[in-house]
Amino acid sequence: TEKNKKLIAGNWKMNGVQAALKEIEQIAAKVGDYADKGTFLICPPATLLAGARAVAGDALHIGAQDCHSATSGAFTGDISAQMIADLGGSFVIVGHSERREGHNESNEAVKAKAEAALEQGIKPIICCGETLEQREKGEAIGFVTQQIADSTPDRLSKDGEIAIAYEPIWAIGTGKTASADDVAEMHMALRKTLVDKFGDRGHTIEILYGGSVKPENANTLLHTQDVDGALVGGASLKAESFLGIVAAL
Ligand code: PEP
Repeated sequence: TEKNKKLIAGNWKMNGVQAALKEIEQIAAKVGDYADKGTFLICPPATLLAGARAVAGDALHIGAQDCHSATSGAFTGDISAQMIADLGGSFVIVGHSERREGHNESNEAVKAKAEAALEQGIKPIICCGETLEQREKGEAIGFVTQQIADSTPDRLSKDGEIAIAYEPIWAIGTGKTASADDVAEMHMALRKTLVDKFGDRGHTIEILYGGSVKPENANTLLHTQDVDGALVGGASLKAESFLGIVAAL
């Protein structure tokens, strides 16, 4: 991924059976037209990774929504980064708020997952974001920058090896988006955190915005200062709406 291109990533969450692969096929057929402006990714449920890879072609990356920190072992129900790579997955979302909340994932656990992904040559998209209560108390920036300082690997061996997604929890699946000013302020703070930790390489890490991104608001959000792309939930499930976001690039 090059930093002069935006990364547009879809997170299907626990949605989609095999019939939904037709949406991925339709997305793949069109995103090539925007290859000079963006890098495109769909993260379907793990059950659809192989099917998605088979229909995605060259213009569309396929990724997973989580991985275990170990390569293999007695971890019933989990999947490893090696398994994702084996199916042709090139990205993995780690530390989504739904996993931090629903599966008690700590920053330390998220960091271990991100490191496991890097070992397999998979790019982790490391998520962060505050609750509404934290934002109202003025704690958002401090909390989110600490999450990213603690959830990213200690070392990176090349530019653009990881991506970050800022997803305010109160904006996920609610139809509410953060204001462009709030997004710009947070992304600037995150950039500083990344540069403090990784030096100049911190400038090569994409910082995505996520939270109710849709075709109608994508243009504003994608052209906000320091926004390098979007992580899209609900609007990534249908080719028409995902492509509507892509067209806003
Ligand atoms: C997400 O959960 O990654 C997300 C951004 O969801 P939505 O776009 O549906 O708010």
